[in-house]
Amino acid sequence: MPAHNRRVFMLHAIAGPTALTALTAPGSARAQAATDAVKETDAYPKSMGFRLNTANVDQAKFPRHEAAQKCSECQLFSGKPGEATGTCSFFKRVVPLDGWCRNFKPRKAAA
Ligand code: SF4
Repeated sequence: MPAHNRRVFMLHAIAGPTALTALTAPGSARAQAATDAVKETDAYPKSMGFRLNTANVDQAKFPRHEAAQKCSECQLFSGKPGEATGTCSFFKRVVPLDGWCRNFKPRKAAA
């Protein structure tokens, strides 16, 4: 049995066919993760203080937050000019230009 088939067989045996299909199907949550927008109510982003708009950050909870900090100014953000959103490499999902989380990393100034 080829190695790939053996792996698939073992995954079926361990996780069951439904779980394997959910992980590998093109429309599965895992496959869509890179293109889905981060939501403030998602557990992990919520734990990171994520806000769709930096103006709505709880300053008492995140005293180091500054109004000028937003996704579009973060090293971990990549977006195309003219678009309202981009990809955050930390969450590996889509965030708005004005978003923020406590993992904000300022872009390095051009030399
Ligand atoms: S890591 Fe940076 S780009 Fe990602 S959500 Fe936080 S502030 Fe925005």
